[in-house]
Amino acid sequence: WFALWRVALDDALGRRVLVTGAAGFVGSHLCRRLLRTNYSVVGFDNLQTGSLENLSDIIDHPSFSFQRRDVTEPFDVVVDQIYNLACPAAPLHYQRTPIETTKTCVLGAIHALELAHRRHVRVLQASTSEVYGDPTEHPQRESYWGNVNPIGVRACYDEGKRCAETLFFDYARQYGVEIRVARIFNTYGPNMHPDDGRVVSNFIVQALKNEDITIYGDGKQTRSFCYVDDTVTGLVSLMNSDCVGPINIGRPTELTVAELADKVLLLTRSRSRLRFVQLPADDPKVRRPDITLAREILGWAPVVSVEDGLVATISYFRSLLLDRRPKADTTADLVAAE
Ligand code: NAD
Ligand code: UDP
Repeated sequence: WFALWRVALDDALGRRVLVTGAAGFVGSHLCRRLLRTNYSVVGFDNLQTGSLENLSDIIDHPSFSFQRRDVTEPFDVVVDQIYNLACPAAPLHYQRTPIETTKTCVLGAIHALELAHRRHVRVLQASTSEVYGDPTEHPQRESYWGNVNPIGVRACYDEGKRCAETLFFDYARQYGVEIRVARIFNTYGPNMHPDDGRVVSNFIVQALKNEDITIYGDGKQTRSFCYVDDTVTGLVSLMNSDCVGPINIGRPTELTVAELADKVLLLTRSRSRLRFVQLPADDPKVRRPDITLAREILGWAPVVSVEDGLVATISYFRSLLLDRRPKADTTADLVAAE
């Protein structure tokens, strides 16, 4: 009876949410945050890069349900809000099956938007700093249109996400769908896949194993890393604000890849050495968000320092490597749920 009562209450309060990509890195944290703040959550995922392990602590939660679904197929569910996160985000993952990546970006966006249109509910798109490509404007403001190679190896993701943004704004203009678009910059934290090839997971795993740290190129390229709790707070704030976006969600602390390696080595007390290898094609040289809009409109800015975030992430990977998977609900508490 509790479950039935909850469904009735959530209906009355308009607090039932769909998260696509729920079993992924960011999606799993978002689901947990929404449950903590008394939403009920339906999670969709095809488990291409995500894992049910990421949801192990909430899978039996009375307000959570999971469906194995591919967003390239149409879907229907009774919800009040939609967060569209389904899409592999690591270059290694999204380049492995590039055609599927574009389909996920474009068809996933269309199906999320169709549902939002049909049910008259708000839909948030997890877009990306990749829409800025290899930027010629620095730091990147939302008004910048980007510099993307449309036929390069990153294009399946970059152009897929750009097309998804186009669809979001066209559904808003043509049908009046209530959209929100977040441009997420590099996010890291517990529940990242240890083999996803992203720089934070690679460096930490390599350092913990005392293996060589693989620096692509000369390591002078920059990124700005945001801890996942902060990113999730930004997404939820945007969803519940009057701001349509696009809006940058990221931490403006810019580091070279070599500086990140130094920090990881220091915090893990590793004996690893640096190994310089070839830079992948179209790797953006710089990336730093201008978050003036997020500060002013959402009152949002990241609060977790890079050091604190790295310590929490290192602790997660250390447990994972020791085959003691940390309980997900204790891994990411650097930002208290509001
Ligand atoms: P992730 O790969 O960990 O999670 C993506 C999830 O989507 C996975 O669980 C995967 O199985 C699922 N998925 C992929 N294709 C699907 C499909 N066709 N149908 C259903 N599910 C599918 O990646 P993440 O880092 O958690 O990224 C989540 C979202 O945030 C993505 O849309 C990504 O583009 C966006 N984003 C992430 C970052 C970042 O740094 N993590 C930066 C910018 C944008
Ligand atoms: N990178 C690196 N070593 C690695 C993995 C990545 O030097 O083992 C570099 C990569 O070339 C890029 C940066 O780190 O310049 C961030 O890469 P990631 O794949 O994490 O994200 P993205 O390129 O999508 O920002």
